[in-house]
Amino acid sequence: MALEKAREARAARVDVIHLRIGALSGVVPDALRFAYEALIPGTIAQKAELTIEEVPARFWCAECHQEFESEDMLAECPRCSRPSGELRAGREMEITSMEIE
Ligand SMILES: [Zn+2]
Repeated sequence: MALEKAREARAARVDVIHLRIGALSGVVPDALRFAYEALIPGTIAQKAELTIEEVPARFWCAECHQEFESEDMLAECPRCSRPSGELRAGREMEITSMEIE
């Protein structure tokens, strides 16, 4: 994904890739780093640094009109204990920015 963007921007080199990964995105940051190390040799991103911002999952409670964080999909509001089906954040899997030359 990053390499495609870099090509579009006609970059000669990718220096830094900033990612945002949600807790419920299904992506494990350590596994991603590992895969990244395996993928970049021989590409214009081979010296690029990878930074990962982890986003906690946040849900909305319609009863209490408040957001709360939860570790899993079966999120219960800490105030009223009702389960919330409204995920507000945590599924992110995106490149927030790249530093290229
Ligand atoms: Zn609530």
